[in-house]
Amino acid sequence: MRIVLIGPRGSGKTTIGALLAEALGYRFFDTDVMVEKAEGMSIPAIFAERGEPAFRAAETAAIRALPPEKAVVATGGGAILLSGNVQALRTGSLAVFLDAAAAVLAARTAGSTRPPLTGLSHAQEMAAVRKVRLPLYRGAADLCIDTGMLSPADAIVRIQALLGGRGSAAVCREFVAFLQQTRMERSEWEVTRERLCGAGGMPLHGIFAVIGNPCLHSRSPELFTALFAACGMDGVYTRIEWPDLGAIMAMVRSAGVKGLSVTIPFKSDVMQYCDEITADAQAIGAVNTVIRCGDRFVGANTDWTGIRQPLAGTPPGHAVVFGAGGAARAAVYALQDLGMEVTVLNRTPDRARHMARHFGCEYGTPAAYDPEKTDVIVNATPVGMEGRGGSLLERGDLRAHQTVFDLVYTPPETELLRNARAAGCRCIRGTEMFVYQAQEQMRLFTGIAADAALIREILG
Ligand code: NAP
Repeated sequence: MRIVLIGPRGSGKTTIGALLAEALGYRFFDTDVMVEKAEGMSIPAIFAERGEPAFRAAETAAIRALPPEKAVVATGGGAILLSGNVQALRTGSLAVFLDAAAAVLAARTAGSTRPPLTGLSHAQEMAAVRKVRLPLYRGAADLCIDTGMLSPADAIVRIQALLGGRGSAAVCREFVAFLQQTRMERSEWEVTRERLCGAGGMPLHGIFAVIGNPCLHSRSPELFTALFAACGMDGVYTRIEWPDLGAIMAMVRSAGVKGLSVTIPFKSDVMQYCDEITADAQAIGAVNTVIRCGDRFVGANTDWTGIRQPLAGTPPGHAVVFGAGGAARAAVYALQDLGMEVTVLNRTPDRARHMARHFGCEYGTPAAYDPEKTDVIVNATPVGMEGRGGSLLERGDLRAHQTVFDLVYTPPETELLRNARAAGCRCIRGTEMFVYQAQEQMRLFTGIAADAALIREILG
């Protein structure tokens, strides 16, 4: 096995890495030193004379040249910025994220000759860079350690204790016994048990799951199992359909589960189990993704990215969202982020008013829809779903200049989209929301950016 240390400058990767290698009897590699040797100049000189892209290219070459095992690797703070680097670093490795408070990092790196990346003061830059990279470090890490209060020797003891405590047989058995009482196909449970408690031992990159009630028909296990295989991740992705969220989260915590996809009815209740909630998830009021880093659970929302991404590049204009439930909240947030003026139209006006107040937008009932004043339409109601059929808008209600995004994804081609196509509108299927929310979830879970085309291909 290989151990890769990731984290911001000043977190102790080089010092701790060298000591850890010595303790384990492994070879030690520092990718920054490898780059300097290969390029024949210091990193500040590479940045000054050739620019950051040249440095990143040399860093990628250094990462590709690393031995696959019995090595401890200290990486540069930005090594996780390129998905290909993360994939190469993680394959066959355990990644340890060394972190510390921004003020500690700034104090440790004060007086460094490294070129600034921004026009900010050193302390402000350290804080800003750490903040932006934090989701990538967390996703790319199998273990997380705060080195702020630790000496390098103490950090080694902590890392070795975490390495030794990973995936004990008792924990695996307890988790698998919990799964056995949930609603899950017997064959799926048997495969999960074999992967977690079988001769191969616990998967290197841990356990992931979709939690919900119901979630028996969620396609996330199939999707992430295929994505992990395609990206060299040795992780197990399972499902937990169970009514008691408290029991699920207790089990998830004790088994050290690394990531969760959260679905109905837990998207708001799960927030109380998170130690930190991202600003997006807080504004939307829902968490559909949980990532564990150390003993902290971080709640995030990727539903809005799933709506924003397919609409990116649409000129700002007036958007109408039909519905005032969870999907509508993510839609309003995404549309406002794209600079749109949004109106929420809902069957129950009180819910629309409540939502409009929260997001500072207009509201009304569906009767208030005016095609001449609407550029983008998002259907965030179940109208049009398989078995129900129907459409909130007929062909005569639609105009060729409009973009119509139907969040309903079964069937992929709804009656609303058929009407919109006939009217000459640009149409986006609900399956695209699933694709892009899953892409972002994969990035948060692993630090790896999977291709949208690959996700579409897996989903078929
Ligand atoms: P929700 O919280 O239950 O909200 C449903 C909304 O639809 C409510 O505002 C409700 O209005 C309205 N509605 C229900 N039936 C209606 C009808 N017959 N006519 C007019 N309005 C009606 O559900 P949600 O979680 O937001 O999900 C909404 C839809 O989004 C789902 O059905 C699903 O198809 C889609 N979705 C897609 C994805 C994806 O990945 N593509 C992800 C999540 C959701 P009232 O307030 O009046 O009850």
